[in-house]
Amino acid sequence: MEPISPLGTPDQSLLDRLEHALIAGRISRRGFMRAAAAAGLAGSSLHVLADELDAIRANQAERARKLQATYDYIVVGTGSAGSALVGRLAAARPNASILVLEAGDWDTAPSVMDPSVWFTNLGTERDWKDVAIASTSTNNRAIPEHMGRVVGGGSSINATIWARPFKADLEHWAAESGDKAWGYEHGLSIYRRVENWQGTPDARYRGKSGPVWCQPAANPHPLAPAMLAACRSLNLPVLDDQNGAREEGSGGFALMNQIIRDGRRQSMARSYLYPVLSRKNVTLLVNTHVDRLTFAGNRATGVEIASASGPRRVQARSEVILCSGGINTPKLLMLSGIGDEAQLRSHGIKTLVHAPEVGQNFQDHLLHGGCIWEPKEHIPHRNSAANAAGFVKSQASFDSPDVNLVQIELPYASDVVGKRYAPPNTSWALCAGLVAPKSRGELRLKSANPADRPIVDARFLSHPDDVKALAYGIELARDIGNSAAMRDYVKREVAPGQKLTGLEMENFVRDGATTYFHQAGTCRMGKDDKAVVDAKLRVNGVKNLRIADSSIMPRIASVATMASCVLIGERMAEILTQRS
Ligand SMILES: Cc1cc2nc3c(=O)[nH]c(=O)nc-3n(C[C@H](O)[C@H](O)[C@H](O)COP(=O)(O)OP(=O)(O)OC[C@H]3O[C@@H](n4cnc5c(N)ncnc54)[C@H](O)[C@@H]3O)c2cc1C
Repeated sequence: MEPISPLGTPDQSLLDRLEHALIAGRISRRGFMRAAAAAGLAGSSLHVLADELDAIRANQAERARKLQATYDYIVVGTGSAGSALVGRLAAARPNASILVLEAGDWDTAPSVMDPSVWFTNLGTERDWKDVAIASTSTNNRAIPEHMGRVVGGGSSINATIWARPFKADLEHWAAESGDKAWGYEHGLSIYRRVENWQGTPDARYRGKSGPVWCQPAANPHPLAPAMLAACRSLNLPVLDDQNGAREEGSGGFALMNQIIRDGRRQSMARSYLYPVLSRKNVTLLVNTHVDRLTFAGNRATGVEIASASGPRRVQARSEVILCSGGINTPKLLMLSGIGDEAQLRSHGIKTLVHAPEVGQNFQDHLLHGGCIWEPKEHIPHRNSAANAAGFVKSQASFDSPDVNLVQIELPYASDVVGKRYAPPNTSWALCAGLVAPKSRGELRLKSANPADRPIVDARFLSHPDDVKALAYGIELARDIGNSAAMRDYVKREVAPGQKLTGLEMENFVRDGATTYFHQAGTCRMGKDDKAVVDAKLRVNGVKNLRIADSSIMPRIASVATMASCVLIGERMAEILTQRS
């Protein structure tokens, strides 16, 4: 499978606008080429891109005209896992018809394709705009829980970091599911076929011919090597690669891996989905919200989608697969009668399967904002503004690191910390992250109306060990940021500015907590009958319904979650096509 051709061009935002217009059928291929040539964007790769986009547009327009009442598979969501699943399934089953439904629009906005402005998508129509409700454990702060609502899902608006799970994460999933196909060695074989790795070749750990382009941060900000030098000076391990051997070890610092090619984001949609959108067996409907699932007895028969003329139904001959993400998937199950009976009854929803764990076990990583320094001289951020990071254990006995330190080339601060310390715009941050949280939250329906967002009761920092782990990370971030190796980049420490202890530290942790937007765990995979899905990702209690997205993680992977979701999408495709 060849991913769509990337282009590094002098005027990418014009190109993005043209892409959007071509794919939406507002301009012709000839109009695209004429406008691109007038703007000085020429070259043979532009013809290839125009051909690919035009083929997708023509095919998808025809598919939409010939919409069927029944498809073999219906996939809900085109995020990290959904794109991987559809890309593999469509190629392996050319005779099976696949309907792919995405609530968001195409991914051609300039802010999607340009990784340096990824954060400008937050709060726009490309974001579901959820917020975790205030709790005493976050000093009564409500915390935003952004999620991608666009083709590519999170992979189209995220910070582009490609981080593979630790061996301990996958071994835990294998033990919980009772299936060693979820374990590390098989996971590693999947990543070798997934990656198109651009760093130093490494036959055991890295793949070279897969659909996902990833590279070590290109031309990183000078803060990144300075931070790595600071780590060496403090005897913290510095690794050649942020993935690979790191997964089997106990942590270390390195340049990040990013899904950026010639300055443009290579989302999972671009990597997996686009290459199959000109196939006759794939129909993608964008701006199409799935409201609920339909059933005949306990067999899933299809979906009900919102349309201007009222609810419309489409049937699945074989299976419905939910790839709608850590918040929307449990919401869809509950709206369809799969959830805790008492909760469903309180909203007037008839219970099909009493499944009390749907929406439970909510987990996310916490990013503390933060520890902030004012530089002597401002150097604008590069790539996705985060180019170096590291993993450490706050306690030696842990099976893998629980703390992630992320350098951010911007004054990253929570609402409260930002107000209290007012960092200058030129500042940079070294944020402590909690990647193995012990706190667990839950999702509840707000109402039976599919248009209402659910209640995200995250209960962040409700477990005291999570506060201790972040306090450890903050101390370490200050040691690194204030070390001699960083002196060229430091005029003064802005926040917290002094050693904190006791209640002061605890409050700094609680006031600074924000999330990485890695919602997971709400439809737990397990071998016990209380689990929401089994090892083959089948929803317990019903037939012909599976889930493949971040919600199935029994315990959240201790790294940024896109690559783990790709693994889940790849596993789903394996299960469906090889019955393995
Ligand atoms: C701002 C931000 C920054 C991040 N940074 C990173 C990073 O740098 N590295 C990293 O590894 N991870 C990062 N993540 C997390 C990562 O992107 C997600 O964990 C991952 O994309 C989740 O994959 P998924 O397949 O579970 O769901 P998603 O990627 O969220 O995809 C779900 C899709 O389903 C669609 N959908 C949902 N409900 C419906 C419905 N009812 N009908 C139709 N369609 C529906 C959504 O619109 C979406 O497109 C970030 C996330 C965000 C939001």
